[in-house]
Amino acid sequence: MHILDTPIDFLKGVGPARADLLKKELRIFTYGDLLMHYPFRYIDKSKMHKTADLNQDTPYVQLSGQIIKFEEKGLKASKRLIAHFQDETGIVELVWFKGISWIRSGVKLHTDYIVFGKPSSFKGKFNIVHPELELQEGEQQFSATLLAVYPATEKLNAKGLTSKAIGKLTKALLPLLKNNLDETLSPELIQKLNLPTREQSYFDIHIPKDAKALIRAQKRLKFEEFFFLQLHLLKLKLTRRKKFKGYAFENLGDGFNDFYNKYLPFQLTGAQKRVLKEIRRDVRNPQQMNRLLQGDVGSGKTLVALLSMLMAVDNKYQACLMAPTEILARQHFETTSVYLENQDIKLAILTGSTKTKARKILHEQLENGEINILIGTHALLEDKVKFKQLALVVIDEQHRFGVAQRAKLWKKNDFPPHILVMTATPIPRTLSMTLYGDLDVSVIDELPPGRKEIKTMWKTDSSRLQIIGFMREQIALKRQIYVVFPLIEESEKLDYKDLMEGFTAIEREFPMPEFQVSVVHGRMIAEDKEYEMKRFSEGTTNIMVATTVIEVGVDVPNASVMIIESAERFGLSQLHQLRGRVGRGTKQSYCILVSGHKVSNEGKTRLQTMVDTNDGFKISEVDLSLRGPGDMMGTKQSGELNFKIADLVADNKILHFARKEAESLLQDDENLAKAENINIARAYHPYARERSGWSRIS
Ligand code: ADP
Ligand code: MG
Repeated sequence: MHILDTPIDFLKGVGPARADLLKKELRIFTYGDLLMHYPFRYIDKSKMHKTADLNQDTPYVQLSGQIIKFEEKGLKASKRLIAHFQDETGIVELVWFKGISWIRSGVKLHTDYIVFGKPSSFKGKFNIVHPELELQEGEQQFSATLLAVYPATEKLNAKGLTSKAIGKLTKALLPLLKNNLDETLSPELIQKLNLPTREQSYFDIHIPKDAKALIRAQKRLKFEEFFFLQLHLLKLKLTRRKKFKGYAFENLGDGFNDFYNKYLPFQLTGAQKRVLKEIRRDVRNPQQMNRLLQGDVGSGKTLVALLSMLMAVDNKYQACLMAPTEILARQHFETTSVYLENQDIKLAILTGSTKTKARKILHEQLENGEINILIGTHALLEDKVKFKQLALVVIDEQHRFGVAQRAKLWKKNDFPPHILVMTATPIPRTLSMTLYGDLDVSVIDELPPGRKEIKTMWKTDSSRLQIIGFMREQIALKRQIYVVFPLIEESEKLDYKDLMEGFTAIEREFPMPEFQVSVVHGRMIAEDKEYEMKRFSEGTTNIMVATTVIEVGVDVPNASVMIIESAERFGLSQLHQLRGRVGRGTKQSYCILVSGHKVSNEGKTRLQTMVDTNDGFKISEVDLSLRGPGDMMGTKQSGELNFKIADLVADNKILHFARKEAESLLQDDENLAKAENINIARAYHPYARERSGWSRIS
């Protein structure tokens, strides 16, 4: 057994009760776990303060002096011990509410101590509650100027497993590891990047000699964390390329060519063409494609998907497109039907509300290969749905699909279909590198010509009349308007009430028969939703009042005004996605964000960012910095973005670095077989084993 796998119970200072706490509260089971329980910040202990200089702004102070008097005040629960601590500039009170007798018997009067703690002011005087006390002589074995602070919970604190106690355990552990930790990086890499050794890094991260040593240790450990993940993702990609056969779409035929040359109503943008070439290059080879397609809202991803599906159909294979909502699936089905109306290609749709009878027929036609392209929702994933030869799967707006759900699709065949994943809005490069680091990436970085920048305004409730006036003007110009209300699960009832009240208010302002108003929300049955969507997309209704069901994908080019109510309650990418429902034609479009008067600082940043820019790539960066990666991608629990020390946002330079190093390493030594890479190979293999089952496509 490796020393790092030693159960934590064996460490000096860890009894059964503590071991239990460490396991339950901090998931520390072994020496290795404790070693990697990193401090979350450090306190500079190199500075000595004077009692006379204390002020509200000093978060932590270190004082040198003597206790000249003890005093006990209060009774029972409010009992406290007060020590008068004096240095050459004055006196400050140290206060204990707990462990009073222990302090009284252990701490000596008129003896030099170092006091460390957080000053607070009480009735105009400063005091320090539960400070740390250290005798001045008797240098500790490890003296550090930067004191590590460990994350702790209330429960741990109550049971005495404070940050300080954890620091002590770490100090007991580190000497045991001396000369016992294998290096995980190659000497070449260590030298090239000027990193400290692994052993040195662990010492310095817990007990830094100085700030410089700490920074180097952090850099090394962060690099290592990113590096092995990138190595893993890149290796997955390589292995798949070698091992996983895919369907070769050898020829383009009438399906693709006729559509492209005869029926496509516009020119593809340069970016669309480039991305199509990238896809074409992949699918003509008998190897599985795994590609992520990124592009801003309205950049024309759907069309790229359709053309890719035609490549499959031309080679007598089937393709499917999976959308996150029924509305969106239906819309894809309808637009695609129109696009393909002149061609002999059979399309079908399958959603949760497809009737049993229709379903039966559909199952049959899928299995005998009559259906060429199937469009649908999660319903596609059911075991009953079998294809004759499914060769391409397009996943639209993928972040709503779970990893496990996606994996199901690849199991529908003897060998895996090509996969094209499209994101709803762009995601930052650091995230795509991590979450989809095993996929190839295509980016559509250009909007179709003639699009006008959407004008975005931020208004409060008090501008209601002005907004209604604006809506009237726009309707007079024959434009259509969306009014969106938030619907967030916890407060669903209330939100529903808001929506219906909003709907009534709008109907009052825009009465029939002069105006037509539609409403769509999650509680309606699919047929009614579809009916209302249709009336709106055909231009029968002027205003569509809706919840976020229209958030993704819906495409009605004549709609040119998006009004978002309670906009402060929406996330940034959601706002951008909603705004993307307008600005799809060539007319000037508008987005009006309506908020209450009280908006949190973060809310203000979100709304102001929307006003400032239309660029989805920029917006996603702001979103990432506001929410952090886990929240942004809805993968908080999945572990894919849980780093022990590295931070995707703050350390993105190190990440890029790590990716580059991993790439060049594999280029040179794909199997990590060269002698100089033995350290890396030894560390990588157990890492990969632990992570297998982790890749979304396997
Ligand atoms: P996305 O899914 O990327 O948000 P869509 O595929 O829905 O975008 O396309 C947005 C709109 O732009 C659609 O109305 C589509 O028909 C149109 N469109 C797509 N590509 C082009 C192009 N090259 N030229 C003009 N219009 C286009
Ligand atoms: Mg789309």
